[in-house]
Amino acid sequence: MTMPTSPRPQAVITGAGSGIGLHGTAALVKRGWDVVMAVRDPARADRAIEQLQMDRRHLSVIPVDLADLRCVRAFAAAVNAGGRSLDALVCNAAVYMPTLRQPLFSAQGYELSMATNHLGHFLLIQLLLEKLAGGSGGDVGGGGAAAPGQQQVQHQVQKRLVVVGTVTANAKELGGKIPIPAPADLGDLSGFAAGFRAPVTMANGKPFKPGKAYKDSKLCNMITVAELHRRYHAATGIVFCSLYPGCVADSPLFRNSFKAFKAAFPWFQKNITGGYVSQSLAGERLAEVVSGEAFGTSGAHWSWGNRQKQNGQPFVQELSRQGSDPALAQQLWELSSNLVGDQS
Ligand code: NDP
Repeated sequence: MTMPTSPRPQAVITGAGSGIGLHGTAALVKRGWDVVMAVRDPARADRAIEQLQMDRRHLSVIPVDLADLRCVRAFAAAVNAGGRSLDALVCNAAVYMPTLRQPLFSAQGYELSMATNHLGHFLLIQLLLEKLAGGSGGDVGGGGAAAPGQQQVQHQVQKRLVVVGTVTANAKELGGKIPIPAPADLGDLSGFAAGFRAPVTMANGKPFKPGKAYKDSKLCNMITVAELHRRYHAATGIVFCSLYPGCVADSPLFRNSFKAFKAAFPWFQKNITGGYVSQSLAGERLAEVVSGEAFGTSGAHWSWGNRQKQNGQPFVQELSRQGSDPALAQQLWELSSNLVGDQS
C-alpha cells in the first residue's frame, strides 16, 4: 500500500526563545509545522524547549542578533542555504526599554529599539522574501525524500509573512493614545532622513524618549506590513499581515520596566482593563494567524480586541492615520532601505 507522507511546512520565528514567540513555536509544531527558532541565546532557547517539552525533531535553533545587521545577513544566508522551502516568516522579536535615561545603540550605530524591532526585521524580510515567495520544492517535510513505497505530497500552505504589532502603536485605539511618554509618531521621518545616527535617536528627529522609541518601532513594523502587501502580494501571493495578540502582561518583554510596574501590570490588566492574555494563548493566536484558514487576508492587522471576552473572535483592526498612509509607508521603505543597505 502506498502511504502518502505529508511534508511539514516550515516557519522562521524571530525571538522564539521566550514569550509569545516560544509559545507560538510550540503551537505551530503541534499544528504540524517545523520551526526555525531565530534567537539571541541558543542555550536559553534550549532550556525553554526542554521546559515546554517540545518535540525537537521539528525544531532548529539558529542564532541571530537583530541589532547587528551583519548577524542578520549571516542568519538569512544560513536559512537561504538550507534545502527546505520557507512557508512563513514571523517577525516577533523586540526590545522594550522604557526606563533608559540615555539611548543605547546597535552595532551599526542606530538607536537600539528601532534597530532591533524595525531595521533588523526590515533587512531580514528583504533577504528572505525571495525564498518565501519560492515554491515549496526541495526537501520539505523534515525527513528528506519519501521512504520507499511512500509518496511525497506537496503541502498546500499559503505563504505568510506575519509581524507581531501592538495596540500601543495604533492611535486608532485607546491603548495607542496613551501620552506616557508620548504616542507613536514618526513625524516627517526627518531622523531617518538625517541618517539616524547619534545625536539623532528618534524617527522624527526629536529628543530621545525610550518608551516612544519602542512604540515608533512597532508602528514601523505595522507600516512595513502594509507596504509589503502593496508591493508584493499581487505578484507573489504571499499573505502579509500583523496582529495584536492581546496584552501579555507577564511576558519577559517587561523585564526592563520599573519594578513596581512589573508587579502591578498583570494584576491591572487582569482585573481593571480585562486586557490580559496568557503567553500560551498569545502563542496560539500567533500560530492561528500563521496557519489558520481564516487568516488569509493580506494587508490585515488582526486583533482580538483590548478587553478580552470568552470566545472572543478575531477581527481586522483599522490602523491609525500614519499606520495606513501609503506615502509615509513608501518614504519609510526607502529610508529604511538606505539605513540597512550598506552598513553590513
Ligand atoms: P519577549 O521578551 O519574551 O520576546 C521578545 C523576544 O525578542 C525575546 O525572545 C528576545 O530574546 C528577542 N530579542 C530581543 N532582542 C533581540 C535581538 N537583538 N536579536 C534577536 N532577538 C532579540 O516578549 P513578548 O513575547 O511579549 O514579545 C514578543 C512580541 O510581542 C514583541 O514584538 C512585542 O512587541 C509584541 N507584543 C507584546 C505584547 C505584550 O503584552 N507582551 C503586546 C503586544 C505586542 P532575548 O531573550 O535574548 O532578549
